Amino acid sequence: MLKRIELKNFKSFKSLSLEIPKGFTAIVGPNGSGKSNIVDAILFVLGKSSARKLRANKFSSLINYHKGRKAEYAEVTLFFESNGEEFGISRKVKKSGETAYYFIKNGEKRRLTKKEIIDFFRRLKLLGDNIISQGDLLNIINMSPIERRKIIDELSGVSEFDEKKKKAEEE
Ligand code: ATP
Ligand code: MG
Repeated sequence: MLKRIELKNFKSFKSLSLEIPKGFTAIVGPNGSGKSNIVDAILFVLGKSSARKLRANKFSSLINYHKGRKAEYAEVTLFFESNGEEFGISRKVKKSGETAYYFIKNGEKRRLTKKEIIDFFRRLKLLGDNIISQGDLLNIINMSPIERRKIIDELSGVSEFDEKKKKAEEE
């Protein structure tokens, strides 16, 4: 369960801590106020490997730019609560464009590989692919029924079994 999002120098935000209350959350605000940037921040931590999917030319463009000055790095942390325990997952991007992932618990921060992160979020059934971005809905509507079915299979976890079945048949 996602509890809090912390942004540091991410896109239009210098520093932001956003509590996510239980239930349904909506973010409202005028055009250009940063609503989609918050969604981009979440996708960034969930492991998006293309800056374009986060509406940036390159990863270093995700770093806050203010009055001609760019911050040294950007970092987004997602804090989760599970079985009464709180932990955080963060991803940082430096000016060089290099990114790194971290696991935070009890004030300790340790670096994780991208694979560890992806496996972790897969177990939580939390992958960036499950998030519908602005404009995506039209793509889904215009898709062929087979393509649409593929997405439903992916979300429901059916495709995992399809892959296993295919492997078993090949043996
Ligand atoms: P809409 O209602 O139009 O969808 P929105 O609230 O979703 O708007 P966003 O797309 O999240 O708005 O925010 C866009 C703003 O973020 C733009 O003004 C853009 O200049 C700013 N922005 C993006 N990247 C950076 C950056 N690296 N540094 C500073 N500002 C940035
Ligand atoms: Mg938007």
